[in-house]
Amino acid sequence: MKKGWFLLGKTQAAANYYQVFNPHTENLIGEAAESTPAEMHEAIKEANEAYEKMKTLTSNERAVILFRAAEILQNRKEDGARIISQEACKPVTAARTEVQRTIQTLQFSGEEAKRMNGEYIQLDAAEGGEGRDAYTIHEPIGVVGAITPFNFPLNLVTHKVGPAIAAGNTIVVKPAEQTPFSSLLLAEILTEAGLPSGAIAIVPGDGKSLGEVMLHDERVKKISFTGSPEIGKLLKAKAGLKKMTLELGSNSPMYIDQSCCEEINEVAEKAVKGAFAYNGQVCLSTQRIYVHAEVFQDFVRRCSEKTALLQFGDPLEESTEVSSLINKKSQQRLYEWVKEAETEGAEILAGGKKTGNGLEPTILLNVPSSSSISCKEAFGPVVIINKVQDSEEALEQMNNSRFGLNAGVFTNDLKQALDMAHRIEAGQVLVNDVPTLRFDHMPYGGVKDSGYGREGVKYAIEEMTELKMISLKYR
Ligand code: NAD
Repeated sequence: MKKGWFLLGKTQAAANYYQVFNPHTENLIGEAAESTPAEMHEAIKEANEAYEKMKTLTSNERAVILFRAAEILQNRKEDGARIISQEACKPVTAARTEVQRTIQTLQFSGEEAKRMNGEYIQLDAAEGGEGRDAYTIHEPIGVVGAITPFNFPLNLVTHKVGPAIAAGNTIVVKPAEQTPFSSLLLAEILTEAGLPSGAIAIVPGDGKSLGEVMLHDERVKKISFTGSPEIGKLLKAKAGLKKMTLELGSNSPMYIDQSCCEEINEVAEKAVKGAFAYNGQVCLSTQRIYVHAEVFQDFVRRCSEKTALLQFGDPLEESTEVSSLINKKSQQRLYEWVKEAETEGAEILAGGKKTGNGLEPTILLNVPSSSSISCKEAFGPVVIINKVQDSEEALEQMNNSRFGLNAGVFTNDLKQALDMAHRIEAGQVLVNDVPTLRFDHMPYGGVKDSGYGREGVKYAIEEMTELKMISLKYR
């Protein structure tokens, strides 16, 4: 497979290409465009011109395009899953789930295009405001610039593209270097569904040089970035007054209360999935688990048994549950962090060794909060399980983090659930679920170093539009 960059409704030949490899087999998957800054300028210029065409579409017409795209993807589901599986090294069963979620994200985008309602404002609530009617509308902003990570190369791109189109904007996407092909598939599908030529461009290649163009071109009205906190901070420092959404990393925590002793097996099942799904390369992967002393031993034993059953292998094999990491650098970093924790007194309950280009699913007990594997984002198959005496100690540990994306609380005590939910520093708290859970229409985003702004189709639209108020004086 040799694919260029996507502009004006088709894949264009590129001047230079780079090779994309399957991280597990190390086989060549294909060649992708090594786009130049000049090509990024061209994509922005075309997207800016296409915005005039987008302005002529009604919300119903935009919705129809998005619904049609969902249908086309439904028919190309297996193509999508195989592309994701190979380029992102994602077990093919999980890749199918990602495609299914993408279909839903497109459908939610179509639905939201039809209900971008404003509100009535009671101006006579202010002295001197009487005799007026006022209302708000959401206006599109123009060109949106999207910079996306490798781990959900189809659905996370759609979380930016779907709302942008629903809102009436155009969009230029800079996908992750490792995963250019999934986003090209999305652009082809949207074009087949009737999206005006130029309204979407996919510009694969180097993040720094292409990102610089997006940041400094005034025609790009907003940057929507999903990726690491380090790059997010760099972008924010340079973005000036451009609108920005930053969806960054985390070291998501959860608490298991002793009131869950009856269902501890089910909780352990969910915890193992939450920690090791897609080799832990999920922004909301369950990384730190705090367990009440009364249920600690039982929970730990069950997690260890379930982890031992996970099948490591080629991402395209149906039986594979965990596979290699995205690159050897991640493998080495994680391996070193596990060793560091061991030196600092942690016990390795499961895993801890390299396997293929990955790391065995690893459970660490009694990890100091200052250890790298606890206070930094693991973004790999390592989970920490620490014992606590009560929910107050758990809460203190959970909030002892520079991140705040998702958090989970397992308890049968309603007051405790609500109290913790209010006091946990995170964008989302899931009661009786692991933090590794996202529904595509829910508001989603972080606090602290996990970023700012919200996605989830309706909320992303709010961030990709300007609120305008119109007042009508009648007396
Ligand atoms: P990354 O930050 O390395 O790369 C993300 C994107 O930024 C890529 O497209 C890359 O090319 C680009 N980039 C790199 N340097 C750049 C620069 N100087 N200027 C502009 N763009 C640049 O992240 P990754 O390794 O692809 O993904 C993993 C990270 O993404 C993790 O931290 C994870 O938690 C985070 N993530 C967050 C969410 C969320 O919704 N909060 C979802 C998925 C992933």
